Amino acid sequence: MTWVVAKFGGSSMADAKAIRRSASVAQNRKANVVIVSATYGTTNQLLELIDIALAGNENKRDQLFNDLYNRHLSIAQALELSDEDSNQVHELLLEIKALAKGITLLGDYSFRAKDNLLSHGERLSSIFMQKALSQCLDQEVLLVDARKIIATNNHYGSASPMIEKTAKQAEQHLVPLLKSGKVIVSQGFIGLSEEGYTSTLGRGGSDYSASLFAEAIGAKLVEIWTDVAGIASTDPRLCNNAKPLKEITYKEACELATFGAKVLHPTSLWPAMRKNIPVYVGSSMEPEKQGTKIVLEAQDKPLVRAIALRRKQSLLTITTPRMVNTHGFLQNVFRVFAEHEISVDLVTTSEISVAITMNESSAINESLLQALSEIGEVEQEKDLALISLVGTRISNTAGLSKEIFTQLADINVRMICQGASASNICFLIEENHAEDAVKMLHRRFLESEFANS
Ligand code: ASP
Ligand code: MG
Repeated sequence: MTWVVAKFGGSSMADAKAIRRSASVAQNRKANVVIVSATYGTTNQLLELIDIALAGNENKRDQLFNDLYNRHLSIAQALELSDEDSNQVHELLLEIKALAKGITLLGDYSFRAKDNLLSHGERLSSIFMQKALSQCLDQEVLLVDARKIIATNNHYGSASPMIEKTAKQAEQHLVPLLKSGKVIVSQGFIGLSEEGYTSTLGRGGSDYSASLFAEAIGAKLVEIWTDVAGIASTDPRLCNNAKPLKEITYKEACELATFGAKVLHPTSLWPAMRKNIPVYVGSSMEPEKQGTKIVLEAQDKPLVRAIALRRKQSLLTITTPRMVNTHGFLQNVFRVFAEHEISVDLVTTSEISVAITMNESSAINESLLQALSEIGEVEQEKDLALISLVGTRISNTAGLSKEIFTQLADINVRMICQGASASNICFLIEENHAEDAVKMLHRRFLESEFANS
């Protein structure tokens, strides 16, 4: 296991200058496989293009396309692409134009078509990275299409990877190249479905791609280069005293990723975890600055390592006396959520009620509420926030709850969840108290004697 996989996100691929800087980071870190996102804002722009094309607004569509076209062409020029590469960039861009026109003509598109269109962002940026990297490396830099490696199911829009097939393809198409000293550039976010079409892993999926590549080749390290130097003890925009974390465990990082820290795509750690490959998160703008290493077991084991906040939460409570001494009740409740494809977060139950949190946007769903009301009386509360404390000894430290709730003495705590994970305790409060609560908890656990206990 000697390979290093480095991934550069959209902000690290913003323009020719950023791409060159990212290439030099890859060079200094001796990356063997370099995975890239689309250039900054491109995926959003492509989505907008699809919407506008669908609405049939041809002027606006062409205007947006021209913007995309010019931005990519100016990067191509600045990087002094060869004629062959320039032609390829040009062709990919024309394909985007044709696809958008097709959507207007049809007045319709499928998820499969959407994935195809979105994939152009990464396919373009990877040509740029190949060029920038070959300008600074002595070794040969090859562009390998991610669709030859990353196999997925047919769930377009958020496809799931097929691990064994991916490993086999990597063994066949990547490992021999790596062994002969070549450096590989490939696209994040995209793969090939079982039925042989372009698929995507979902928004922000390039982190996941990097981790999948690393798993498939048995890399020794995955590096995620972004616009912040790693993970902080809480959101620095919220709390001036947030401090960078040198290390964090996979489990803690997973809890944080699900509970609001937007540094990593939540699923992106799974492949690395399966193979125990450390994941380093650093800033491509300040690569010398210490980032965060995500590992199986961290050296220091603070009681609380980080605090995450998730806003705009809703709480649904379903109450019915029929819940007492029956079986299958929870199954019925969760079936409703599954049928509505709604992801739930916290769950607590009492003898006659079950309370469930979710993003506010999911809860505003008449059909869900109707279906739940057939099971029991439904009550909905909004404007809530979820605060989560993540650390190594959360579940086995006497007096921790007392400390937490002493800090929150003046705030009404609506729900508490602890016990499912050894590294997490979380609770729900009114959103307008959330910032104060995070600040108070951070002060108590991360800026006091606790920080070193
Ligand atoms: N370009 C894709 C997105 O913006 C994937 C990624 O950047 O991770 O969602
Ligand atoms: Mg990203």
